[in-house]
Amino acid sequence: MKTRILLSLCVLGIAVAARGEKISLVGATVINPADGKVMPNATVVINGDKIVRVSMGKQDAAALGKQIDCAGKFILPGYIDTHVHFFQSADLFTRPDAADFNSVRPYKDEVAWIKSHLDDVFARYIRCGITSVVDVGGPMWNFEVRKTANATAKAPRVAVAGPLISSISREKLDLGDPPIVKIDGPEQAREFVRKLADKKADLVKIWYIVDKDHPVDAFRPTVRATVEESHARKIRVAVHATELDTARAAVEEGADILVHSVYDKPIDDAFVKLLKDRHTILCPTLVVFERYGRTFSHQLNLTPEEQKWGNPEVIASLDVTKIPQDKLPDRVRGALADPNAVLDGIKKTYEAALPNLKKLEDAGVTIAAGTDAGNIGTIHGPALFREFQLMKEAGLTNMQILQCATANAAKLFGGETGAHIGKIEGGYFADLVILKSNPVDDIAHASDIDTVIKNGVVYPADSILR
Ligand SMILES: [Zn+2]
Repeated sequence: MKTRILLSLCVLGIAVAARGEKISLVGATVINPADGKVMPNATVVINGDKIVRVSMGKQDAAALGKQIDCAGKFILPGYIDTHVHFFQSADLFTRPDAADFNSVRPYKDEVAWIKSHLDDVFARYIRCGITSVVDVGGPMWNFEVRKTANATAKAPRVAVAGPLISSISREKLDLGDPPIVKIDGPEQAREFVRKLADKKADLVKIWYIVDKDHPVDAFRPTVRATVEESHARKIRVAVHATELDTARAAVEEGADILVHSVYDKPIDDAFVKLLKDRHTILCPTLVVFERYGRTFSHQLNLTPEEQKWGNPEVIASLDVTKIPQDKLPDRVRGALADPNAVLDGIKKTYEAALPNLKKLEDAGVTIAAGTDAGNIGTIHGPALFREFQLMKEAGLTNMQILQCATANAAKLFGGETGAHIGKIEGGYFADLVILKSNPVDDIAHASDIDTVIKNGVVYPADSILR
């Protein structure tokens, strides 16, 4: 008898712990960018890791659990950055294939540093209200990053692609587990996709690099085979394609996601219609286009958010004037010699990319916000707020930008998790950001963060990076 009572108490104990704590956020304005609805004086009830319900007006106190007063605040779904790379730190030494600083800091030391600072990167995402991210390509150890993130409370949810299937190779990044793999022909592509499927890749990524030695059509059969093999295994394919002809070819071959904007020329109506008909998602990654050039020419324009919430070691490394002259790679030397030419190049990129983004948004193409964080100068976490500024410059409304970073981004994230993030609704994960000022009035308020909630756990913003 005694044993039986003890046993049933134990069972009860476990059940309570699993169900978690009931909390209610009372009195805030709830903003749901998915449908643009704004609900004043609302109550969000959370039980454990899930949102139970959202309602307006006076509530029965007994049903609310622990109450958190949110009067005067604004609640959004946690932000989602759909384009990051955990294998890159964003410091000066992270892409030796673009600028080789091995003589200053060996790349293997850089990779070791990155692997030992994952918890720091995860926390910086949470500090910025970013509760989910998509890693769109890296070495095979990316799958370990996903596992670590999923086992860490103060970390975003992570969806991940493995190594990039590419038309060209990048030897300088290859320390035995390369992030970019040159694939020669359709059969090799199929074999590689099967390897990625075994690792349960959330996405397969193609690096569709085109130049005079690598014309669009030469790699096209490989793209086709990659898509066929991936779709047969229910895995979606994301394609890096920055020229109109390349992007068109990728979508015609069945790409589900285009990463980066088209910036070689204005997009045409046929391209817009193609994306609409195929329900292709586009992730513009505007911020990364200015950061390599600005870093190399010593004109980096980090935002206050990046300076406050970016990793200080990473930021300190980005000052190229601290590198001895004789150790500067040619690309950096050239940028320092003619900084105005660098700015002109960035301006030209935006003159094409921003109107192209506006045209796609106006046509109703699904745009998902993403930064390409981890690339040189594009800071993990707060880079998203610079992305918001650039989306605003393109002419998107504040609500549209918020939709790109929540509900639309959840579609790119995909899978079971993607179906339960990006909205404030019963049954969705309790991933929320609570702001002190209204981001619908001014998108700059998106970083005026009071509290972040990830998986039902409440983090006062100022406590996160301590
Ligand atoms: Zn990328």
